[in-house]
Amino acid sequence: MDITTDICVVGAGPAGLTLALLMLRSGARVTVLDRTRSFEREYRGEILQPGAMTLLDRLGVLDGARARGGYELGRFQLVENERLLMDIDYGTLPPPYGFLLSLPQRHLLTELFEACSRYPEFTYLEGCGIRELVREGGAVTGVVCGRGDDRRRITAPVTVAADGRYSRTRRLAGIEQHRLDAFAHDILWFRVPAGGRTDRSVRVHRTGGTPVLIYDSYPDCVQIGWTLPHNGYRRLAEEGVESLRSRIAHAVPDYAEQVLDQVKTLNDLTLLDVFSGYADRWADDGLVLVGDSAHTHSPIGAQGINLALQDAALLHPVLMDALDSGDFGESALSRWVPERRKDIDAVFTLQARQSKAMLGGGSRLAGAVRPLAARALAHTPLYGKILRAIAFGARPITVRSDLFGEAEPLRGEAAGA
Ligand SMILES: Cc1cc2nc3c(=O)[nH]c(=O)nc-3n(C[C@H](O)[C@H](O)[C@H](O)COP(=O)(O)OP(=O)(O)OC[C@H]3O[C@@H](n4cnc5c(N)ncnc54)[C@H](O)[C@@H]3O)c2cc1C
Repeated sequence: MDITTDICVVGAGPAGLTLALLMLRSGARVTVLDRTRSFEREYRGEILQPGAMTLLDRLGVLDGARARGGYELGRFQLVENERLLMDIDYGTLPPPYGFLLSLPQRHLLTELFEACSRYPEFTYLEGCGIRELVREGGAVTGVVCGRGDDRRRITAPVTVAADGRYSRTRRLAGIEQHRLDAFAHDILWFRVPAGGRTDRSVRVHRTGGTPVLIYDSYPDCVQIGWTLPHNGYRRLAEEGVESLRSRIAHAVPDYAEQVLDQVKTLNDLTLLDVFSGYADRWADDGLVLVGDSAHTHSPIGAQGINLALQDAALLHPVLMDALDSGDFGESALSRWVPERRKDIDAVFTLQARQSKAMLGGGSRLAGAVRPLAARALAHTPLYGKILRAIAFGARPITVRSDLFGEAEPLRGEAAGA
């Protein structure tokens, strides 16, 4: 069955579902399609910054997502050979979000989806990847998605590309993505049982020369990201799993037993190509890009979800104006972009610095300077400023709740429940 709607969102990640909920609450008809059939997103961002929590709370979904299970992580620490070089205390931030939240992405997405599902104007197509962009007179007027008998055409005056870092929608629109080579590492990710240990912090360990990211992951697990030189996996894999797992165990002595127990073959590890990048345009006539599809970030500093949610909040009034005026041209849909590009460039710069400071080379000089620099920074006003920028972003971004409809036409009420 073909569908006609106000907004067609490709991708039910944090950006797509948040935007869908904002538009539904403002009375628009929204169709979201996703190529997957579940909200299990393995090896995706789990750490939410206070800025992301603030937006989710304003949308009324934070408590529900947290009730599904997650951990408050109070500190971000850099540890080198058992020595604590940097100890960022999120408790120094203003309440109520003086912590990082480790929340499985399925909990966030399920909560957002359930909130959207309360609106009769919401249509969700699962297992339905985008196949074509439909254009009329040059402007995008919808998409074709799905395959075989499930193939559908969705007609909408505006399509939103929220389909992530490898966005097919972006490719179909002929928009180029530029990779930034700011990171010298790839990451091998895996989870091990926490075995009752609870550190409730995010840590970068630099024991044994190889930086390792570690954080508590719900339920009762530890997520470990072992960094390796960019494109260096093939050589390591050739050395065999025995050598690799003993190197990892050496780098995380506290979890050595679990690593040796869990990592039996190379298939127990997932290699992630870490990169950042940006699309050269974020809009076309009838099309707009948000979240990772517009700008992709490395996991360093846990920024991606925060930025994706902020994008949705910034795009919401732009789309409401477009629905009011009927102007879905590239320039109307790009209105939010110039200011946003500045925010994003600032995050790219910050992440490149964080990456260099935490994962950077291990020369003798760097090893000697790193603790001094870390200690000196902790006692300057710059420290608080950097922490607030990491936690909330460069400027306050809020949900335009004034655009929400007075009475929410909830599905339960419509059905007389
Ligand atoms: C290993 C790793 C760890 C990370 N850790 C963190 C972290 O701790 N904190 C943090 O804030 N950020 C983290 N990030 C970044 C974060 O995950 C992303 O920035 C964030 O998920 C972006 O949200 P999004 O909605 O734009 O895209 P995505 O989350 O990628 O969602 C895109 C959606 O589009 C769907 N899709 C893809 N292709 C198609 C298609 N052809 N048709 C239809 N649907 C499609 C996907 O199924 C998905 O649901 C991490 C990233 C990586 C790779």
